This record gives sequence, structure tokens and C-alpha cells, in this order.
Amino acid sequence: MAKRIKNPNEICYMCGKSKSQVLHLLEGNYGYVCDECVENAHDMLSEMTEKERKLREHQECIDATPSQIKSYLDQYVIGQDDAKKALSVAVYNHYKRIHQKKKSDIEIEKSNILMIGNTGCGKTFLIKCLAKYLGVPLAIADATSLTEAGYVGDDVENILLKLYEKSECNLEKTQQGIIYIDEIDKLALRGENTSLTRDVSGEGVQQALLKILEGTIARVPFGGGRKHPNAECVNIDTTNILFICGGAFDGLEKLINQDKKVNRTIGFGVGAENISNEEEFILENVQQHDLVRYGMMPEFIGRLPVITTLAPLTENDMIRILTEPKNAIVRQFQELFAMDDVKLQFEKNALMKIAAIANEKRIGARGLRSIVENVLQKTMFELPDMKSAKKVVVNAECVDGDTEPVVYGARNKKIA
Ligand code: ADP
Repeated sequence: MAKRIKNPNEICYMCGKSKSQVLHLLEGNYGYVCDECVENAHDMLSEMTEKERKLREHQECIDATPSQIKSYLDQYVIGQDDAKKALSVAVYNHYKRIHQKKKSDIEIEKSNILMIGNTGCGKTFLIKCLAKYLGVPLAIADATSLTEAGYVGDDVENILLKLYEKSECNLEKTQQGIIYIDEIDKLALRGENTSLTRDVSGEGVQQALLKILEGTIARVPFGGGRKHPNAECVNIDTTNILFICGGAFDGLEKLINQDKKVNRTIGFGVGAENISNEEEFILENVQQHDLVRYGMMPEFIGRLPVITTLAPLTENDMIRILTEPKNAIVRQFQELFAMDDVKLQFEKNALMKIAAIANEKRIGARGLRSIVENVLQKTMFELPDMKSAKKVVVNAECVDGDTEPVVYGARNKKIA
């Protein structure tokens, strides 16, 4: 056993505090250490271990194959198989490109993505899930709030600033993050005669975005913004930032159908009226030139090589969204009720009704939560005072607002 060397002063060898200044002074073979230093060391070690664990997990996710990425998304996002596959492959290639070890003359270009789909069909949700899985920072921006430099509104660089802040001002993390720009279709030229009425500000924003999409070193002011000349700046290289744009592109389908009909009439001598429903265009086949026709700049669309479409959600999808995903809305409320030892049950017809209402509102799955919230509002107010309540059942009439959910006590006895 090592020889014990006594510290005659009985002070903590780490911080120098004496016995009277601390709660405990622990004696070891080579001296003393106080309780505060032990505690600090423990915290530091836990933090380091946590960081290492996260780093390892992040590395594993970055190394994940497209099918592994998709399997993760499947746990949260209902349907949208094509979009999930396209995103998984694009992300896989993106991180492969960033971590390309072998030096090569072939420069792999970025696989920025464009997602087309109605509001509330899961575009933002997909990206959020993806970023969470990959453990990379994500900034979400709305294209309609962006303006060209010098105009009132958000400069395009502000998106980079957002990402920088989301990365806790870690430049390395920022430069490998994801930026999602929603409502990108609103930057297209407007009006029926698309070739003449290009919206100036929309085009200006597309131009400004083009630079950061391509990869540039942007000088981003933080702590005050561009308007403050003394603001500090950070240089953000956007080469490895993955940009994903999303939009509903209302009317795109119609535009392409028109083109198709004209082509048919001219090319094959088939009258437009002879095109059957099965031949009607499906957005799945959208091409870059269709988006240019819609009013997007060719250079801009050229920077979004991966185009994927999300299908509108059916009522059946909505029912699945309500019940199936890991954090499904119904499950969340069941968990809340379970905390009061009450079982919450939705009858099938109630779920169908909720889905139908959401569908009518044309806001996709976005409306589901508030519908459920409304249905359960009164019950959630009263339930904590009903000590004998054991079960709450929601049926279609409750969703319609005709009745309140039924509350049962012991032995299935109706109590409210
Ligand atoms: P948008 O397509 O307009 O970006 P969101 O992704 O914001 O729509 O969807 C709104 C909400 O609806 C999401 O937060 C999510 O809870 C739910 N949601 C939408 N689509 C799906 C889906 N396919 N699977 C599961 N939940 C979905």
C-alpha cells in the first residue's frame, strides 16, 4: 500500500480551502479534498460523458443508411413514403459528401431539397424529425418575411444568424446544419400571365438566397443586425449547410395539365378533351422546368436538385396521425388523463369525425390537436375534482359538440 503523506495543514489540495471553510474534507492517501471540489468534479465528468455520448450518437446518426433514417421517420410521420425516401437519400449523400475522406478531383455538389405539398401535410414536421435524429441544428424561416437587403423585413442573412443561435454560437455546428425555408412558392412571380408579372421583391429574395444556397462565406452581423454598424460579425461558410425549401405551389398541377393538354393537341393531334382522368397529371412527376414556368428563377430551382412531393393527407391518414405515431395526439391526452388515474378512450366514429372536420378546414393535420383539445376542454376542467372517475369515452356526438364526453366510475357506472 502507498505510504500515506500527511498534509499538516489539512486543506483541500484542489481549492486550498481549510476544514472550517467547507462541509467535509475527505482524506486520501496523498492529501485532502473538499466536498465542493468532489461535487464540481462529478458535475464536470457527467457533462463530459454526456457530451461524448451525444457526439457518439450524432456520429452514428450521421453514418446511418437511408433505410435507417427512413425507419426513424416512420415512427413519427405517417405516410409520405416518397418524401421520406428522397430526404433520407439526400441527407445520407449530404453528410457523406461533407465527410468525404479521400481527396478526389470530383466535387460532389450539394443535394439541397425542394418539398412540394399542401399546408399541414407534414413538410416542416419531417424536417424537424430529421434534424432531431441527426442531432444537427435546424433553423426554420418563412420566405414571405424575407426581403432584399435594404428593405424593411428580414435580410436573408438573418436565417444564417438563426442557425448560428440554434447552434449555441458554435460555428462548426452551424456550418453543418439544416435550414428549412417554408412558403418558398410565395417568391414566384404572381398573376395569370406568368412571363410578364415577375414579382420584383420575390425575385430579389430568390437572388439573395441563391448565393447562400450555392455556398458562400456570408458575413453575418449579430447583436444588433445590419442596421447597427458596430455590430459584431461572424463569417459563416454555407457550403455544407443543407437547404430545404418547401411550399404548396397552388395551381402548379393545373399549369402542368394545361401544358400537357396543349402539347397533346399540337404533337399528337389528340383533342384536350380526350385526356382521361387517369392521365391527369400527378404532381409526383413535377420537373424543374415546371417550377420555372410557375415563376421560380431557373438558377434558383437549379440549386434545388432534389424535388419531392408530399401527398395530401386523406381522412384515413389523419386517423392514423391521431393514434399511431410515438407521440400521437391521442396518446398524449391518454398520458395526461392517466396521471389522474383515468383511462381515456376514443371511439372509432369520434376519430373519423375529427379527421373529417380537419379535412373540411383544409389545414391538413395542423388542425387535429385543437379539435381534440376543444372536445376535451370541459372534461379536463372538471375531471381533477371527480375523484371516483375511472374512464372517459369520446364518441362522434362529443366531437360534434352535441354532448360532452362520458365519464365512468368504478364498475363502469356512468357518473357524468
Ligand atoms: P406543413 O406541411 O404545412 O409544413 P406541418 O409539418 O407543420 O405542415 O404539419 C403540422 C402538424 O401536423 C405537425 O406538427 C404534425 O403534428 C402533424 N402532421 C402533419 N403531417 C403529418 C404526418 N404525415 N404524420 C404525422 N403528423 C403529421
